[in-house]
Order: sequence, then structure tokens, then C-alpha cells
Amino acid sequence: MSVSNTIIKIKSELPSHVTLVAVSKTKPNELINQAYLAGQIDFGENYVQELVDKYQELPKDIRWHFIGHLQTNKVKLIAPFVNLIHGVDSLKILEEINKQAQKNNRIINCLLQIYIAQEDSKFGLSFDECQELLQSNSYLNLKNICVVGFMAMASNTEDNEQIKKEFLSLKKFHESMVSIQLPLNILSFGMSSDYQLAIECGSNMIRIGSSIFGERNYKS
Ligand SMILES: *Cc1c(COP(=O)(O)O)cnc(C)c1O
Repeated sequence: MSVSNTIIKIKSELPSHVTLVAVSKTKPNELINQAYLAGQIDFGENYVQELVDKYQELPKDIRWHFIGHLQTNKVKLIAPFVNLIHGVDSLKILEEINKQAQKNNRIINCLLQIYIAQEDSKFGLSFDECQELLQSNSYLNLKNICVVGFMAMASNTEDNEQIKKEFLSLKKFHESMVSIQLPLNILSFGMSSDYQLAIECGSNMIRIGSSIFGERNYKS
């Protein structure tokens, strides 16, 4: 199926409260444009330089999401235009985002990345670290960032029960944070292989790459 037909099909099947982020990393502008012309506005990238190049070349009303692991020294490159930064997992990076947002006279929305998987290899905060961060004075003093929710990735497994358990643990944590009156509206979890399950478990922002654009070929 063409990229535009896939976008139209996926969107038509999504509940209206769920935002689709089309993950276009490694994919050419031509394909992104096809998705854009089919009505897709939110795109996700996880390499800073690739994101900057695409931002410069593509329509300016695209909302760019940074979904990778952000290094402190790269924040300034995306701060002028990024719409949402998903993978924030330390106070240090939040402070740098705040500083660069201030320079650009903006408030940058961020999601804290929470570690829910069983594997060792993934980035993110534990529930305790996350709660501590959100209630710290250092965080409350940052006026040019806004944490608007959480992002997570489940274990890379075929075991749906395991994935579901991980997703629901995040949902439960989210409810406990909202109950102490933090304005956290976005739950970003679910990718090509597990987004339906993610939505059932409470996700309202899914990040889909290969199901839209095809498998990625990192060699080319
Ligand atoms: C690549 C990537 C995705 C999309 O993965 P697919 O399996 O291709 O849908 C989603 N989230 C993050 C953080 C990614 O790096």
C-alpha cells in the first residue's frame, strides 16, 4: 500500500483522542511529503542532524517530535522549532532544554521517558526517580519547559501479556501522578508492532514507523 493510503487507513481506525506520530527516521523527504499531503502533521525523528535537515527542507507547519536519546550538546540545534521532546530522562537534560528554550523565547513541551521494560538496554527513569524529579524544586524552577506526560517502550518480546503488563504499569503510575495534580496529558507508547494493545492500555500518542514507511534500511 502507498504511504498516503496507509496514513489514511491507520488514521481512520484510531480513536479521536489518539495522536499518530509518523516516525520518519532514515526515510526520504519524498515519502514524508506523501504522508503530509495525506493529512499527517506530526512526525518523529531520532537523530538530531537528520531532524534539522528535514525541518529546513519540509513544510513549516509540520510538528516535529524528537523521539531519540538527546545529548546535552545537541539541544540547541532543535530548540528553535521542536514541538515535543519525548525521551527526556534526567534533570540535567531538562535544564539544558530550559536554557535553550529561554534563548529562543519559547516554552518547550517534554515527555519524561519511563523505564518499563525488563531489558537492561533501554533509557529512562524509574517510577520513583520520575516522581522525585517532578516534585523537586529544581524542576519547579524551570520556567521554559513543560513536562506534559510520559513516554515509554515495552520489552522487545512477542509475549503480549508481558507487554500489556508493562503498559498498564505506566498507566497506573500516570494516574497516581495526575491525582497529585500534575498536568500530564500525554502518554506516548505503542509502535508498529504493539500500538493497538497500547491504545487499549491507555496510550494517547502512538509512534509508528515501519508500518507506514516500510522497513528501515540503515545501510543506505
Ligand atoms: C523507531 C522508533 C519508533 C517506530 O518504530 P516502528 O517499529 O518502526 O514503528 C517508535 N519509537 C521510537 C522511540 C523509535 O526510535
